[in-house]
Amino acid sequence: MVNSQTFDVIVVGGGPGGAVAAKRCAEAGLMTVLIEKKKLPRDKVCTGMVMGDWAHDIIRLEFGEIPEAVLVDPPCLTGHRLHVAGAETQTLEWPTPFTWRRNLDFWMLLRAKEAGVAIREDSRVVSVTPEQGLTRVTTQHHGLTEELRARFVIGADGSTSVVRKSLFRLKVRYSSPIRECYRGKLDLQRNVIHWFFPKGRPRPRFNVNHKDDVFLIEGSGIKELRREINETLMQYGFDPRSKPEWKDGCAIAMLHEQLLSKAFVPAQGNNLLVGDAAGLIFPITFEGIGSALKSGVAAADAVSKSVETGKHAAAFYLEALELILEKIRHLCSVQNELGDSSMGDPHRLAASMLSAYRETLIIQENSFVNPD
Ligand SMILES: Cc1cc2nc3c(=O)[nH]c(=O)nc-3n(C[C@H](O)[C@H](O)[C@H](O)COP(=O)(O)OP(=O)(O)OC[C@H]3O[C@@H](n4cnc5c(N)ncnc54)[C@H](O)[C@@H]3O)c2cc1C
Repeated sequence: MVNSQTFDVIVVGGGPGGAVAAKRCAEAGLMTVLIEKKKLPRDKVCTGMVMGDWAHDIIRLEFGEIPEAVLVDPPCLTGHRLHVAGAETQTLEWPTPFTWRRNLDFWMLLRAKEAGVAIREDSRVVSVTPEQGLTRVTTQHHGLTEELRARFVIGADGSTSVVRKSLFRLKVRYSSPIRECYRGKLDLQRNVIHWFFPKGRPRPRFNVNHKDDVFLIEGSGIKELRREINETLMQYGFDPRSKPEWKDGCAIAMLHEQLLSKAFVPAQGNNLLVGDAAGLIFPITFEGIGSALKSGVAAADAVSKSVETGKHAAAFYLEALELILEKIRHLCSVQNELGDSSMGDPHRLAASMLSAYRETLIIQENSFVNPD
């Protein structure tokens, strides 16, 4: 066991939520370390679309324009195409910068490092324990256990968050999306993302997107939809006997119900959860980069206010979080209505899905407050 330093802020996790929170804390003059369990750059199971206004605006303000080298081919999708079985295809125009998360997240982390964040990669947080006004964070790195301490801990460690598990008693339901990556291309327009609803219902669904010289089939319903995926995609040149170059998957914590009922309040004292660790992924589109960034900014600002006032960061953070929760509450009700209103009528479902996707994307408009 190595005993080491005390920091002002420990940020756990090097995704968008962690990168922006750490960067802003360092810029506020706080001694900040970010701990990431994987070697960097690391990939993340994600389509890699920079979707809504929160993501666009916060990335531009905090990190600058996304460099060309971080974008893929096509660098910007023109929108979303919805294929509901039995209905006309619907297209939603929505310019969307397109990336591999490995590159997007690494670029943001490098900007955080330039701002003064110390980054410890390949180091896994195994527990987080409040301790006499500080928080103890225990990490493991190549079999070596280390204890760090901080006045503030920001848990940005994604859906299966160890910070959340350490600090909150919570029963969590997970959804398990899978990604399959195939070489080549299908006879589908490359510069839109294609969402398929083969059963004429909002779920199960899958999506197809083209990146560089590959295409990906993604979704939580991939296993149960295998026959439908093959039948649907064969008409676009997919060979159902082909094997993916690689596949992977992850877990998404489904925490909306507990968050909205306040059975789960993602902050305690000076320990705050952001992004997927707090369950802030949007329903319907499963966009989460924007809410991770938005909550990361809110967490860093709450830490700064706490330093100024001597009050706990949680109160400031939870106040700022209300805006995100309000959006999630509204989108959850849109999602519930989708299932009920369009049962058995594919045309109605297609129209309702289009409007739900649009609403999910535009809901962030006019609600971004320039952090400066
Ligand atoms: C299939 C799929 C497609 C998606 N597509 C999109 C999309 O196109 N656009 C969009 O906006 N959102 C999308 N999302 C959602 C988006 O990926 C997440 O909401 C977003 O990554 C959340 O960011 P975060 O910073 O909270 O966490 P993450 O990006 O998950 O980062 C968490 C980090 O913490 C690290 N970590 C975890 N545990 C530990 C530990 N114990 N110690 C140290 N480090 C740890 C992880 O390695 C990781 O680097 C998608 C999600 C899925 C599953």
